[in-house]
Amino acid sequence: MKTQKDREQKFYTKPFASFTAKKQLGQNFLVDPNIKRKIIAGCELKKEDVVLEIGAGLGALTEEIAGQVKHVFAIETDWQLLETLRSRIRASNITLINADFLSYPLDSLSGKIKVIGNLPYYITTPIIEKVLQHSHIFNSLYITVQYELAMRMLAKPNTKEFGSFSCFIQYFADVQKIVKIKSTAFRPIPKVDSCFIKLVIHPKPAIKVSDEKLFFFVIHQAFQQRRKNILNALNALEDKVTLAEIFNKINLKGSLRAENLSLEDFASITNQLKALRRNRAGG
Ligand code: SAM
Repeated sequence: MKTQKDREQKFYTKPFASFTAKKQLGQNFLVDPNIKRKIIAGCELKKEDVVLEIGAGLGALTEEIAGQVKHVFAIETDWQLLETLRSRIRASNITLINADFLSYPLDSLSGKIKVIGNLPYYITTPIIEKVLQHSHIFNSLYITVQYELAMRMLAKPNTKEFGSFSCFIQYFADVQKIVKIKSTAFRPIPKVDSCFIKLVIHPKPAIKVSDEKLFFFVIHQAFQQRRKNILNALNALEDKVTLAEIFNKINLKGSLRAENLSLEDFASITNQLKALRRNRAGG
């Protein structure tokens, strides 16, 4: 007997007789034409754009994008899907690449490329991290992610969603919500709703930090113990007396919690710690 789940899995097999969605590859295909229209409009496509689509799938977005831009590089890890897509595509400005985006060498790409994709949920964070680490190639991302993750990326201080991932993203990019997407817009239907968001990568990070590694370590430590006040949460980095002196210098109350601090506050703490360490090292 076929279960409801089987029926959902087979939804897309109609036009492609032998294909079954692979759950382990995050294969949830966009089937809602209204959402597709909103995504395409939200991508702000221009004739001169070069686009990298991550996870092209069965091409729900690929040809539509290609019709409005100069070129599309479409990456898809599942060769079976990619071959299906190859047989359907008519546009000549699409390069199909059968690869795992996370291990794909990006050296062959240059210029200012727009990243677009309904991303596979199981690797959304590493995909975003890889794109942000290649800001010399990419200038913006137009991506669908899980709704709850989008809320963390958009979160501002003094909210419960604000955390180390919010800080990481907002240090590198300006984030905007474009449209919430109900789970029923995809087949098979995922367990959670999604959100289509836009990230514009800062040509240079928006705030000045003297040591990026230390900055992210401070943020990580602070949020790892988010219920503690910031003086106690950062105690692993320096003794409390030194920390209190630093907070005093930058006019920050030690009784605040990580979620009450802005990116600028974390940058000030980092810059003070870095200066202290330089002094100690005699440099
Ligand atoms: N773009 C299509 C759509 O909107 O219908 C498919 C979106 S589906 C959520 C994500 C796609 O990413 C799947 O086709 C999946 O096979 C592909 N994918 C999964 N892991 C990948 C990886 N590491 N690199 C590239 N593509 C991947």
